[in-house]
Amino acid sequence: MNTGSQMNTACSVRRRMVVLGGGESGVGAAVLAQKKGYDVFLSDMSCIKQYYKDMLNRYGIAWEEGGHTEERILDADEVVKSPGIPADAPMVEKIRERGIPIISEIELAGRYTDAKMICITGSNGKTTTTSLIYHIFRSAGLNVGLAGNIGQSLALQVAEKDYDYYVIELSSFQLENMYDFRANIAVLMNITPDHLDRYEHEMQNYVDAKFRILQNQTAEDAFVFWNDDPLIRAELHKYGIQAKLCPFAQAQREGWLAAYMQDDKICFDGPVAFNMEQEELALTGVHNLYNSMAAGISAGLAGIRKENIREALASFQGVEHRLESVCRVKGVDYVNDSKATNVNSCWYALQSMKTPTVLILGGKDKGNDYSEIADLVREKCRGLVFLGVDNTKLHSFFSSYGLPIADARSMSEAVAAAAAMAQKGDTVLLSPCCASFDLFKSYEDRGEQFKECVRNM
Ligand code: ADP
Repeated sequence: MNTGSQMNTACSVRRRMVVLGGGESGVGAAVLAQKKGYDVFLSDMSCIKQYYKDMLNRYGIAWEEGGHTEERILDADEVVKSPGIPADAPMVEKIRERGIPIISEIELAGRYTDAKMICITGSNGKTTTTSLIYHIFRSAGLNVGLAGNIGQSLALQVAEKDYDYYVIELSSFQLENMYDFRANIAVLMNITPDHLDRYEHEMQNYVDAKFRILQNQTAEDAFVFWNDDPLIRAELHKYGIQAKLCPFAQAQREGWLAAYMQDDKICFDGPVAFNMEQEELALTGVHNLYNSMAAGISAGLAGIRKENIREALASFQGVEHRLESVCRVKGVDYVNDSKATNVNSCWYALQSMKTPTVLILGGKDKGNDYSEIADLVREKCRGLVFLGVDNTKLHSFFSSYGLPIADARSMSEAVAAAAAMAQKGDTVLLSPCCASFDLFKSYEDRGEQFKECVRNM
């Protein structure tokens, strides 16, 4: 484990920081380390985007791409590893064998700011809730930055700006290699199986990674979490939590919830008490009630007044590729939920559908169990379009349902097949349950292509 004392060791030579990965977080970390007086070297196995090369050059930071030069890496005092690089990558293993501490970009950034940290993690709903909290804080006039998986890296903002608050989306990958970092408000949305391939197919490893968001919290901090999640409830007692507990849930059964639903309202009991009609909320669907509750509690904890919270929850514009309404063509609504890269998020999308639905799903399967959406597919779906290079698993699971099924190898084929199945008044929903990399560059590319095909119909 890395400790602050290692960092403070006085020495006459400049401490050497090596950064692995030349994307947003790696380059941000390199810039911050450079500003703080480290001798910095950045190394990336593949190509670094021109924008980041220019930034590294502007700051006079040494870098390489297309491979790792061992001798320039293994003389580091400390290494920042980008979250996309797996812990068992050969270079990472060599660094570990040498006993060189490996930290994350967020850990590094946390050392150099006194700003209050609002950190959001979970299997689903991170980006939406993070964006919603940021929107509330900004609307209330707070000096706040948005970081983590979204927008600029935390390290770059700490290097170049001076915010009082940061709202940070943290994936389980980012939570790895965090040791002394402390979240003043930690938000845990839910835990469902995802990325198990990165956790030796052990759910507990993934759960432990998520709960790292609580490490170093004190009694002055707060933990906001979804109390209906059986996994979260089962794990709560294990971590000796010091922080003030702020659970949200569907119903106020237990008398200790900070927020819950009641008679078409969401109700906040604390830290700021108020009710809000569900139909006043900008975001629709049950999952977004949870996201709105988590965001409202977090805003209340930061001292934001209820009228500001209410106004911001009503005015939020939503996030692209998350249940994003595209347009209506020939009486059929098209909805882009390309970010639904696991089965659970598709469950919430289907659950929020108010009309018969043609579901487009498929892609790179991460060990999916489709039984979670089986009932909703039977209840809501008019037809299914499988969009992937290998649709065998989808066929074997859904072929007995008696629904029309089409295979597609491109987005234009998928949209054409869905349009042919849909009837006036239906919805065509792209909510793939899978990663996009078999046919697309990213989930954003998949969503963009969907919107373009729909708009060109
Ligand atoms: P993440 O950043 O965790 O991937 P997003 O906010 O990007 O989450 O939403 C991804 C997908 O997950 C959305 O398309 C939606 O279908 C689903 N989703 C959003 N919020 C929740 C939630 N609280 N619980 C379950 N699913 C959700």
